[in-house]
Amino acid sequence: MAKETHEFQAETKQLLDLMIHSIYTNHEIFLRELISNASDAIDKVHFASLTNRDILEGDDSFEIFLQPDPEAHTLTISDNGIGMSRQEVIENIGTIAKSGTKAFMEQLKKAKEASEKGEAGSEDKDLIGQFGVGFYSAFMVADKVTIETRKAGETQATRWESTGDGSYTIEDGSREKRGTSITMTLGKEFYGDASEENYTDTYKLERLVKKYSDYVRYPIRMTFEWEETPRDKDGKEIEGAEKEKKSEVRTLNSMQPLWTRNKSEIKEEEYTEFFKNQFHEWEKPMEVFHTHAEGSVEYTALLCIPSRAPFNLYHTDYEPGVQLYSRHVFIMDKCKDLLPDYLRFVKGLVDSPDLSLNISRELLQQSRELKVIGKALEKNILKALSRKMKNKREDYEAFWNEFGKSLKIGVYNSMYSGSDTMDKLKDLLLFLSSKDGKLVSLKEYTERMPESQKKIYYATAKDKETIEHLPQMETLRDKGLEVLYLLDPVDEFCIETLREYDGKPFHSISRGDLDLEDAESQEVKKETEDIQKKNDALMKDIKEVLGDKVADVKVSARLKSSAVCLVADEAGPSLSMEQTFAEMDN
Ligand code: ADP
Ligand code: MG
Repeated sequence: MAKETHEFQAETKQLLDLMIHSIYTNHEIFLRELISNASDAIDKVHFASLTNRDILEGDDSFEIFLQPDPEAHTLTISDNGIGMSRQEVIENIGTIAKSGTKAFMEQLKKAKEASEKGEAGSEDKDLIGQFGVGFYSAFMVADKVTIETRKAGETQATRWESTGDGSYTIEDGSREKRGTSITMTLGKEFYGDASEENYTDTYKLERLVKKYSDYVRYPIRMTFEWEETPRDKDGKEIEGAEKEKKSEVRTLNSMQPLWTRNKSEIKEEEYTEFFKNQFHEWEKPMEVFHTHAEGSVEYTALLCIPSRAPFNLYHTDYEPGVQLYSRHVFIMDKCKDLLPDYLRFVKGLVDSPDLSLNISRELLQQSRELKVIGKALEKNILKALSRKMKNKREDYEAFWNEFGKSLKIGVYNSMYSGSDTMDKLKDLLLFLSSKDGKLVSLKEYTERMPESQKKIYYATAKDKETIEHLPQMETLRDKGLEVLYLLDPVDEFCIETLREYDGKPFHSISRGDLDLEDAESQEVKKETEDIQKKNDALMKDIKEVLGDKVADVKVSARLKSSAVCLVADEAGPSLSMEQTFAEMDN
């Protein structure tokens, strides 16, 4: 096919522009990103080869090769992974299909502004990894990027080239072996002995690989060249002899999987680097679980709760799941069936000799072994969370703020899954309380409620202020009764599913009657009923005037200084649920 020039998508252009001119000073991570892509591509061909050996075309010695060229000012990263077809190059490289791109650019802009204002901490956030725009990071150091690639199982290679200025060219390539080579023609700050960031320097590259990519499970190799004076048979340098050129191919990464090492010997930074490397994390995880078990099923798990929720955690394009390995051999990415969906934010991997390499994904996901492992891990994680809540409340609240929604959705979904999830999660829930404006658990709420109080009161609205101005709040405040503020629409779904806690039903203060049970309230109730009876005619009149707009008109005891208030029907959906439904329909 002929050579074609394509324009980048507008978003890609913007992204490239930001990347090239960004304040993002941690240039060196481009290497990690490209190596990680190479490793992903090898995973893919490896996985495909489990069911179709022919795809390897006899080459099963997977490797990633770094080739710096100080004279040409280039650095090439090659892999013998799955490669790309022409169409795939256009789709994967030329356009940014991911919905996160816009969010990424906004973050990058914010970071840029923050740094211009001299605010600290703006650049240490590894934004690039978070949003998976890894490939484009090559343009941070390169004036020109060239891709030569051939897809496994196809014959035609493709060549892609761009200077990052808005367009790229695509044409037939000449690569014979399957896989991909990415050649960066480095910018002038990024080569030469005088440069602090010389990416043609083999020792520099070696250090970077050790720092960022040590656990990559395929060998990352490079040729080292040096000059040496020849030696005699006693090992002495021969005087006056001309220096000889020597070279040797070395593997730069240890490849020893971190999870196979002894827990006590692993430093915190090593765990952090590991999750950054393999799981696109960009900050230190909030919690790391490293467990080994030898019961009916043997396994090692290395999981983490990230420090922040990904921006798309609840979007359909977020793929939850952990990686599976068997005897350190990668089986699959993102296995969704290991952990329950309410733990969708957990990242990491499970390595078990009891998982079979050669069965289909479908069968694997139903395997007894996987279920046993999943149950045990779920239990561990829940235990750790409940411990955190007891002993490190502040940390737990930080967790709650990031991932609480997942647990609340989990409770709500237990309505359909019919599982015991609700019981497992109910003590991990927190709600904002009217008491001191702090988060409170249901246990804490019920333990401190007066004996005469029989219900757990809650109110729903978009914000705190709205609830605080509810006429009903006045009565409750006067009586010293605590109210849970449900500000997230999910809160209410969650409460509706729970129905009660410790035998105490939930009661919406914006729905039906307050139904306070103390003596005073009973008296008021009777009085109200009398007034209602006496004014029956008036109520009927008002109802007639309002017609379909309301379901009923009642005399109420819940008002103090307001004359009227709107309440939702006891049996129907609450006001804020109605609002949520209305928004969903739009
Ligand atoms: P991500 O790795 O998060 O998908 P990247 O920007 O790093 O995002 O890469 C974009 C896409 O380009 C990858 O998903 C993959 O399809 C393709 N790609 C990049 N590098 C390679 C490679 N070395 N071999 C095959 N495909 C690649
Ligand atoms: Mg990538």
